[in-house]
Formats: sequence, structure tokens, C-alpha cells
Amino acid sequence: MLNIVLFGPPGAGKGTQSERLRDKYGLVHISTGDVFRGLNPNSELGKLAKSFADKGDLVPDDITIAILESEVQKFPNAKGVIYDGFPRTTAQAQALDDFLSSKNTAVSMMLSLVVDEVELKTRLSKRASKAGRPDDADPEIIQNRINNYNEKTAPVAQYYDRQNKLIEIDGEGSIDGITDRLFVAIDNQNSEK
Ligand code: ADP
Repeated sequence: MLNIVLFGPPGAGKGTQSERLRDKYGLVHISTGDVFRGLNPNSELGKLAKSFADKGDLVPDDITIAILESEVQKFPNAKGVIYDGFPRTTAQAQALDDFLSSKNTAVSMMLSLVVDEVELKTRLSKRASKAGRPDDADPEIIQNRINNYNEKTAPVAQYYDRQNKLIEIDGEGSIDGITDRLFVAIDNQNSEK
């Protein structure tokens, strides 16, 4: 299986690029942010997830991991999966390793989109006006997400680096240019095996 962790700070372009990778390689795209936003807003779980996401806080690991695993189970015949927005903590990364090894597979690579913080803030405030995301509209919430990213999520890159699975990709410039760099990285990695 081709299991790609697409990594990067809020606004790095994970959603956009995931769709392109999904189409090119025939993968399933799982975005935990989309899964949380798609929960019934009147259900207990939906309310709980929203209470964290609206503030720019991470949803607790136990809930996130359970939701991710049940999402993956919906696609038993997938050739591979793009994990977008997961794992966001080292505990989640460990849980993903355990979960995939129980299915006799593993993370193939982490592709990390590198984008400067000033550029990220510009992108997020532009997205707020289009996508109806309250967490994109408020500079304080954006800053909280970036802080959470730096404190809790950035270490996940080192986790995969220790497994020699980290590939950094320049996430600035044209969307097509970034896609091309991702394709090259995936194709190189696959041909090494
Ligand atoms: P972005 O990458 O733009 O911050 P996402 O759509 O990936 O946005 O996530 C939106 C929100 O959903 C996050 O701010 C967080 O509250 C929650 N979330 C998504 N993925 C995770 C995760 N793996 N662990 C904890 N919370 C998550």
C-alpha cells in the first residue's frame, strides 16, 4: 500500500494537493479536519470536535485516533491512503504506526510542505472569506493554530525523520509547481523500492 502522510502547517495547501495526489495515484484521501467538520453538528461527538476546532485547539488524541481508524476501515480495498491533517501529535503518529502494522502495512513516506509563516497567514485569511471556516477568520485563532502546530505538531516531522521517511517539499510558488514537486518525490521514492 502507498500510505502518504501529507504534512504542513495550517494553510500549507494540504487539502488542495491531496486531491491531486489522490487523482494521480488512485488513493483514498482522508482529512481529519474534513471528517470533523462533516460530523453531525447536533451529535455529542460533533459538538465536542467543534468546541476544539473553533478555538484552534487540537481535538484530543483518543477521539481523533478512534475517528481516523474508523474512517480508514471504510476503505478496505484502498490501494493507498493520503493522510491529510493526521498525525498531528507524536502520540497520533505512534498510534498510526501500530494501526498500520496490525494491517501488515506501514507509512510509506511523509511529504512535508514548507511554507513561510507570513505567507501562511495571508493564505488563511483569504480562505476565510471563501470557505466559511470560522477558524480562519480570526487572527487570534489563526495564531493559536500556528502555536499548536509549532509546539505539538512540528515534532511529528522528526518522528518520521528518525524512520528516514521525511521528505521536505517547497510549498511556495504556483500550485502546479508544488504538485509537480510532490509527484517527483513520490515517483523517486517508489522507484527506490
Ligand atoms: P488546517 O490544516 O487548515 O488547520 P484542518 O482542516 O486540517 O485545518 O483542521 C481543522 C481543525 O480540526 C484543527 O484546527 C483541529 O481542531 C481539528 N483537527 C484536525 N485534524 C486533527 C488531528 N489530527 N488532531 C487533532 N485535531 C485535529
